[in-house]
Amino acid sequence: MPPKKKKVPFPRYVRINTLVATADDVHNQLAEKGWILYSYKKESVTYDDYLDLVENLEGSTYMEDYHIPELLVFPPNTPFWNSELYKENAIVLMDKASCLPVFLASIKPGYNIIDGCAAPGNKTSYMAATINNTGSITALDNNPERFKTLNKLVQQRGATCVSTLLEDFTKLNPDQYPDVRCIFLDPTCTGSGVGFHQDKISEQRVRNLASFQSMVLKHALSFPSVKKVIYSTCSVMVEENEEVVKKALDMYQHQFKLADIKKRLPGWKNFGCEDYSFSKKVCKTNPDVDKCQGFFVAKFVRKEKSTCSED
Ligand code: SAM
Repeated sequence: MPPKKKKVPFPRYVRINTLVATADDVHNQLAEKGWILYSYKKESVTYDDYLDLVENLEGSTYMEDYHIPELLVFPPNTPFWNSELYKENAIVLMDKASCLPVFLASIKPGYNIIDGCAAPGNKTSYMAATINNTGSITALDNNPERFKTLNKLVQQRGATCVSTLLEDFTKLNPDQYPDVRCIFLDPTCTGSGVGFHQDKISEQRVRNLASFQSMVLKHALSFPSVKKVIYSTCSVMVEENEEVVKKALDMYQHQFKLADIKKRLPGWKNFGCEDYSFSKKVCKTNPDVDKCQGFFVAKFVRKEKSTCSED
């Protein structure tokens, strides 16, 4: 039997919360604490080279992520819980995979957004930072305990453009949101990408989740004004990802198509299951390669007659 490959822990990812601090503030404070930024030039370093650098990151050295400008990469298990930056909410501990839906959405200041499954609010607060608190975000969750956390977190992170609703997203009346431009859906899933072992998840649970996920996605696509719908899960199972996307496309392909997200991910090699015609248009992280958790993202964009694209 070949020797088992030692599992290397993921790096520690830190998102700069630009609603509280600038990137310069954060880099300066890190330098004061002895951290050294390892600068590399994207033009001369490929994504593969970058992954090697991440694998060898150690000591007091950190880097910027290859794709997401506001994301910093530290050696695995770097503790930040007691740092001033963390306590002041100038940084948020958030895995790269979890940042991808917001990064890939290309949302802009002034957008009206619905986050349909929002708690605890990591992506909601990242969205607010991306649009610099201009425009609006309606963030829903139907779980009262998680809703409390959502409110707390949104407030602590300075996300003032967010209004929260303790409500079931599927009960939201699309006609009451005539200006919504973008909907994010990050529904409950098996969590098979973040350590829940697939062989311990019952087939019935997967079926129930997949049917709920299909329902929320189809509901989002029914909003008359929506131009983009971002569907994500922290599952790596086809039933919760590619199958859900396929069913939604079967129903809505006259109105929506999948955006080409490769453009925002230079060097990226991991996409959907090749059994699906759209496999190269959806992103599925491979934890062993991409050094982040298992995640899936699909971005639906409304087909427009004009040349103005929402991609
Ligand atoms: N997007 C969140 C973040 O980045 O912090 C994580 C979302 S978590 C994976 C899924 C959330 O969806 C849970 O908080 C759950 O309570 C909520 N949820 C499940 N069904 C829902 C529904 N029908 N309407 C609204 N929220 C729902």
